[in-house]
Amino acid sequence: MPFIAPWTGENVPSPAAMATRLGRAGYGIGYADEYGIADRVRGALWVRVPVKPGAGGPLLGRIHALRQRQAMTHMLCQGCGQPTVGGRADQRHLFLTASATGRPVAEGEKTVSPPSCAGCALEAVQEGLPSGRRYVAVLVEHAVVWGVAGIVYSPHTLAPVLRDVGNEFTLVAYDDPRLPWTLACREVVALHGCTAVDLRDLSERTPA
Ligand SMILES: [Zn+2]
Repeated sequence: MPFIAPWTGENVPSPAAMATRLGRAGYGIGYADEYGIADRVRGALWVRVPVKPGAGGPLLGRIHALRQRQAMTHMLCQGCGQPTVGGRADQRHLFLTASATGRPVAEGEKTVSPPSCAGCALEAVQEGLPSGRRYVAVLVEHAVVWGVAGIVYSPHTLAPVLRDVGNEFTLVAYDDPRLPWTLACREVVALHGCTAVDLRDLSERTPA
């Protein structure tokens, strides 16, 4: 059961009334009953989701918004939830991302996919992905806080703005003027100091 996957018991929507709110960055969206650090991080309003790990069965292939954020913030493995800090002598982090093209991760590329420990990466690669997508692995020196992936709301209608076809979320940087109007659903980091990793090397160097 991947650390960042939700459980069926967490799959209950938490309806919250959306309101216009005057914050430090000017007007934006807020919850009518907004409270403290649980709802807002770095100025971004976060989607409310229940946190009940272990409740019911796992929802594989899905992502729990708050554990995704936790994994990104603290560099926890998305598979087992253990810290990837100090996991390697060179202090780099291994990121494994699903790709349609197989193209290596570019310098500064943004991702919502938290790091992986070597063991979980190997397990994921062995299990594979549905056809049409494959894993790309990269060792990263710095995963830099960049912004959020979420739903942008219209200041005029307080309704979600239409997204590009095929994109679940819009990527919004922390300095983007749309940030106060965005409901954050994923933490986004930019990957710097990238060295592509051959997945075959990963398999050979990691004891089973
Ligand atoms: Zn792991």
